[in-house]
Amino acid sequence: MQHHLAGEAGHIIINKSSQEKCTCGNYGCWQVSTSTKSLSLKQKHIQKLEII
Ligand SMILES: [Zn+2]
Repeated sequence: MQHHLAGEAGHIIINKSSQEKCTCGNYGCWQVSTSTKSLSLKQKHIQKLEII
């Protein structure tokens, strides 16, 4: 058995209920969860800046 994907730091499953499918085929990988969060955070910052 090869475990290349399982050994990747970004493919640790931290959110099993996540709907975000990772490139490795799993759901809730650390990589996907963090990228989604950072995106929403950036959008909030942009909205705040526009209000100010
Ligand atoms: Zn993954």
